[in-house]
Amino acid sequence: MTWFIWHLGCRGRYTVYCICGSEWREIRVANQRRIIDLSLPLENYATEPYPPTITYFDHRAGARRLGELAKVDPSDFPEGMALASEAVQTGTHSGTHVDAPWHYGPLCEGRPSLTIDNVPLEWLFGHGVVLDFRHKEPGAEITERDVKEALSKIGHELSADDKVLIQTGADKYWGTRHYLPKQSGLGVEATAFILQWGVKAIGIDAWGVDRPVAKMAESYGKGDLSALWPSHFYGRSKEYVQIEKLANLDMIPSPTEFVFSALPVKIDKASAGWCRAVAIIEEET
Ligand SMILES: [Zn+2]
Repeated sequence: MTWFIWHLGCRGRYTVYCICGSEWREIRVANQRRIIDLSLPLENYATEPYPPTITYFDHRAGARRLGELAKVDPSDFPEGMALASEAVQTGTHSGTHVDAPWHYGPLCEGRPSLTIDNVPLEWLFGHGVVLDFRHKEPGAEITERDVKEALSKIGHELSADDKVLIQTGADKYWGTRHYLPKQSGLGVEATAFILQWGVKAIGIDAWGVDRPVAKMAESYGKGDLSALWPSHFYGRSKEYVQIEKLANLDMIPSPTEFVFSALPVKIDKASAGWCRAVAIIEEET
């Protein structure tokens, strides 16, 4: 049998062929798919304002619970153990999650805002773009100019299918009291600039897309009402979703060569849904 490797010339994709008799046959695509986890866990004692409470039922507790449900003596399960499970008490905005337009206000672009169960999934699966703002001071505003500079640094022009991921580096402080204040936040002009290209999803590796709460409160204390959650409230006039509490954006090898996926849990009429955000990378073997 004769083997040939055929280079398709697209994103380093290789296909292996062999000749069986006089016939060419495709054997396999020699690409390897790598999935990078961009999510933080739902966990007890999480360093966020509304941390979840997770109650764990181990296998022996499972034997008691299922025994009760099925009228079975718990000791009759294999080794006296049945199925482990957990009960989670938490808000929809705990852990890595997607904010639906309903989160920002009851109306969006003059129509009733979409809740998370009705957000088109195409908005949350597609070409990813990482914009690096780790050089910004904690608490600082990311401006339209900053966004333009970050785009020109990576030689990218935004288009409608882009899922734009804002990298502040705050995820590295998860588990410490520094997590909330260490992020910079997206100013409303920067958000408007990104959305004008038809972008429907903006993510961030921090608690929220806007500046830290303490910084917004400081400006509010000086009489600036427009400082309160400006990028969130901009979602009343322009329809988009946010993915908050992303992590590990530094693990993505190229800022524009990956597929981003953050499909949310389908919670009835909710303002948000938890998601397992990932970057999907196609690599040569
Ligand atoms: Zn949220």
